[in-house]
Order: sequence, then C-alpha cells, then structure tokens
Amino acid sequence: MEAVTDRKQSAMYNDFSIFLQRRFGVKVQKISVNGGFTCPNRDGTKAWHGCTYCNNAAFSPAYCGSEASISAQIDAGIRFFGHKYPDMHYLAYFQSYSNTYAPLDTLRRRYEEALANGKVLGLVIATRPDCISEATLDLLAGLAERCFVMVEYGVETTNDSTLQRINRGHTFAESRQAICSTVVRNIPVCAHLILGLPGESRSDILNHADAISQLPVTALKLHQLQIHTDTAMAAAYTANPASFHLLTVDEYIALVADFLARLRKDIYIERFVSQAPPEMVVAPKWGLKNHEFTALLTRELRRRR
Ligand code: SF4
Repeated sequence: MEAVTDRKQSAMYNDFSIFLQRRFGVKVQKISVNGGFTCPNRDGTKAWHGCTYCNNAAFSPAYCGSEASISAQIDAGIRFFGHKYPDMHYLAYFQSYSNTYAPLDTLRRRYEEALANGKVLGLVIATRPDCISEATLDLLAGLAERCFVMVEYGVETTNDSTLQRINRGHTFAESRQAICSTVVRNIPVCAHLILGLPGESRSDILNHADAISQLPVTALKLHQLQIHTDTAMAAAYTANPASFHLLTVDEYIALVADFLARLRKDIYIERFVSQAPPEMVVAPKWGLKNHEFTALLTRELRRRR
C-alpha cells in the first residue's frame, strides 16, 4: 500500500485511496448498492426524461440489482471482492438514481439495512444537489456520529447554461448551497463533474477547477463525456455528430493535467474517467480501462514536472 501511495503522491495529485487509507487504516472497498430510489428528474417532479446523458444502467455494476434487498446486494458485493481480499472492509455506496429522494423513515431504514452488516464501515450517498433537505442532513449527521458518511453530489458543471442544456433541472448555486450545508455538519463531500459537455469550451472546463476549488469539497470525481445508448444525447449525436466535440484520449489527458494544475491541491481525486460496458457506449470509444488511463495521465504529469 505504501508503494502505491508514494507513486500517486509523486504523480502530483491526491489520490482518494490515500484518503481512505488515512481515514480507516485498513483496506476499504466501496460496494455499489441500488437502494430502490428514483429521481425527481425522471418521475415528473422536475422532468420526465432525465438528464440528456443519463442511462443509469451504464454505471450500475452487474451484482447490483434493485430486485435484490440491500443486504443481499451487500452480501453479493462482499462475496465478489472478498475472494481476493478476505480482510477487506466496505462502504455501502448508494449509487443509482437520487439516494436521498424518499421520506425520512424510508431513508433511515435503507441506510440502516446497509450498516447492519458488520463489515460495512459507512455510507457513501450519491444524490442531486436539489434533493437534500435540512431534515435529511440532520439524519445523515446523526449517522455520521457513529460511522463514516460521505455525500456525493452530481454537480456535473459549474455553468448554468450547460445545466439547462443537459436538462439537469438545478443550478450551480444549488450545488454550492448543498455542499456548504453538508460540510457545515461535518459530513465530507465528493463532487462529480463531467468534462466535455456540449457547448463548453476548453476554457469553460478549466474554469470549473477554479469554481470547485472555492468549495469545501473533500473529493472530486471527473468523467469524460461519454454518450450512452438510449439517451436523448445519443439521439442528438446520431442526428448531428458534427454538433459535438468529443475529446480524444490525448486531448482529455492534456485537459485533465491542466485541470489538476488549477485545482486546490488538497482535494482528493477519486476517478478521472467513466467506464460503461462497451455495448452501451455510442461515442467516444476509447477502449481504455481506468488504470490504463491513469497510467497515461501519470506519464504526462511526470513529463510536465
Ligand atoms: S443522471 Fe442522475 S439526476 Fe440525472 S436523470 Fe439520471 S439519475 Fe436523475
């Protein structure tokens, strides 16, 4: 583990594995859980059709199905990872849809079901910034007194005109407000951004690094824009590919390196790329695994030192 840490620190970014190592002191793996939630951008509360890029199946692991109970999904996740690392501990990652979008009693029951497994050390809860109330934050703060809790907000972009274009149904001000209200309760926050959204220039994208750096986030997840099957964005792309500028691997590496140079140095980076099943990717088809991309990026960061 120490060699990994040295390598990633020397690569000039703060890898999220270092955060986990410092926080827990044991090997920790996130297990994705489908808590059976939906999303206000899909049930008509905000909109019916969701964000233009959204196909939830593209980012849900095979072991994680909404038909199985939360405890069964966690048991399956532990069986999946535990073969290789029997002493591993886990965080339940409520990943699919908006995982704070239900009455408080329902939220409490589902989070507690995950925490009932003795190998689960805490929760990571992904949600929309407009989907968090004071009462929900109080519930999370109560849980955070006895276990680890992190909230992951889908910020996606700091540019309101892009948020409108991709039908997110919230503003960047709402992201800022949600993040600050969460951190003030001593709950760490991870922000999620998509780099390369339609209409954003390179300079717009790099400005996100400045805007995120001003927020009290602990961690950041970056994804390249990837167009998935069965989405409004896929239909728009198929109709007019020339209206999209999809980044090549080399362009994205240079962009991320510049982005990191502008980002606050203490922010932990959890990932750089998304990796949907190949049959769900319309474009761009890089064919790279996460670790392969990280190796290429690390080489570029070293070259720039
Ligand atoms: S990306 Fe998230 S917020 Fe947008 S429609 Fe899909 S589940 Fe809802």
